[in-house]
Amino acid sequence: MAAKLLPSPDGIYDVVIVGGGHNGLVCGALLAQARMRVLVLEARDEFGGMIGETSLVPGSRTPAMAPCLSALSADIVKALRLHRFGLKFAAQPMAPTVLLGDGRALAVTADPRQAAPEVTVADQPGYQRLLTRMKPHITALRTIFESPGGVFSQGRIAQPVDLTRIGLMPLTELIAEAVESEAARAAIAADACPGIAIAPTQPGSALAWTLWQTMKSNAREALAGVPIGGPMALVRALEQAAQERGAVLRRNAKVARVVVEYDRVVGVELEGGERVIARIVASSLDRATTLLSLVGPRHLDIGEVSDLRRAPTAGNVARLTFALSRTPRFKMVTDPALKGRILIAPSPAEREANLAAAAAGRIATPMLELISHGDPGGDVDAPGARMVTVLAHDVPFEAAGGWAKGKEELITRVTQTIAMHAPDFPSLIESIGLATPDEMARDTGIAGGHWHHGEPDLTRLLAATPGTSVPGLYICGADALPLGGVSGLAGRNAARMILAVEKARR
Ligand SMILES: Cc1cc2nc3c(=O)[nH]c(=O)nc-3n(C[C@H](O)[C@H](O)[C@H](O)COP(=O)(O)OP(=O)(O)OC[C@H]3O[C@@H](n4cnc5c(N)ncnc54)[C@H](O)[C@@H]3O)c2cc1C
Repeated sequence: MAAKLLPSPDGIYDVVIVGGGHNGLVCGALLAQARMRVLVLEARDEFGGMIGETSLVPGSRTPAMAPCLSALSADIVKALRLHRFGLKFAAQPMAPTVLLGDGRALAVTADPRQAAPEVTVADQPGYQRLLTRMKPHITALRTIFESPGGVFSQGRIAQPVDLTRIGLMPLTELIAEAVESEAARAAIAADACPGIAIAPTQPGSALAWTLWQTMKSNAREALAGVPIGGPMALVRALEQAAQERGAVLRRNAKVARVVVEYDRVVGVELEGGERVIARIVASSLDRATTLLSLVGPRHLDIGEVSDLRRAPTAGNVARLTFALSRTPRFKMVTDPALKGRILIAPSPAEREANLAAAAAGRIATPMLELISHGDPGGDVDAPGARMVTVLAHDVPFEAAGGWAKGKEELITRVTQTIAMHAPDFPSLIESIGLATPDEMARDTGIAGGHWHHGEPDLTRLLAATPGTSVPGLYICGADALPLGGVSGLAGRNAARMILAVEKARR
């Protein structure tokens, strides 16, 4: 490893990273390891971005948004030696259990040992057939995800005609090629790509599922689940890894502007007017916010401005935290299943109707993802309570009539939906916290507070490289391949592209 460098004595850095989410920290650590002078500027008083902590319920600290690190890249954990900074995962991954409308519980996995006891696996041979059919695409896409240049630099898409067909296909059709029973199809479709505004019955959903499967295939060494100490343990480990390599980290440092002179980046300006000089700026904000708000349209081509303005970014996931007096009793699953994710899933057709309702601002019955923090190693409990995070998918970005009224309606629907499967749930609630998508957008500074910093569609698969049209400016967050999720790969790809350009420059 490179010897520790002192923070830049003259206040001049090679690279300024805007935003200290996990990708910004990965990018900063890898560039500092390559002996570049790196400054990471974070707007808030804590690093971590969407995996930072919040106290939605008084007296508790739970993950602000992302509770589950099932996509974290094993290579990055190894390269940054994050175990040395205390990152440890408590248990083997457990497959998600999907609770269907008819009360059945099915585990989605190709490895029956990962299913919770007493839970039937959803057509395991069919699921295995589906994964085998998709393996060439996932392998090829993984090579692309691991290379900074994206699709075009690689030119190695496996079976391009088939991938294009999948790109335009609904996920339900892709699943139906391999899986026979309706219930198994519904369960597999429920665990599709999270955080997107297309239902499994709609074109584009098969591609989004493939991208998400590809990203999860990077979490090779069973690094799934929640680390001991919660996702914040990853943030702390990344902070230490970056600092040990010489990166300087600053909190409460909101970047107001990326400064561009003679058509290239020369640094950033903070809120309050302070300027930091740097030849390279890597932004972990979404591409639209970075280019339209921080750089400004006058430095961009008119076509690019209209593309950025058109790109869909409204988030559609709300996050609820329930503090319960004890563990709820589910009708179809016992405690071990609660150590994994539980999905309460409307049918694929109902999800399409729910998303249409959400687009009009109405709150239908959302798909729910429950993650419980009460098990050993969760250690984010409020005293005497059991914490359950519920991600409510397919909700409006802005509720018709405003979220003040919409919040009550959403809480009622979520509670009633859980009660259908765990009747004692409502009687155990001690307190509830709720963050709506528009609140997450305000809180993170990311357009729409979107899970993937924008919808993952074919355009983004082709175009989302870390490079931008402004020389010296890169995207190092979830708006570069492999898009959203806590993998760290977007940060690493940006670092690799920056180092390759630097090498060519010398
Ligand atoms: C509700 C929800 C639940 C999710 N659950 C999961 C999950 O369980 N598993 C999973 O893998 N993924 C999940 N995700 C997705 C995942 O959290 C994100 O894709 C990922 O964390 C993005 O990381 P990032 O580092 O690229 O960006 P972010 O985490 O968004 O970080 C961006 C950082 O930039 C900072 N910033 C913003 N503006 C400025 C500025 N002007 N100056 C300086 N700093 C600034 C922000 O404060 C933030 O720290 C979830 C997302 C949401 C919204």
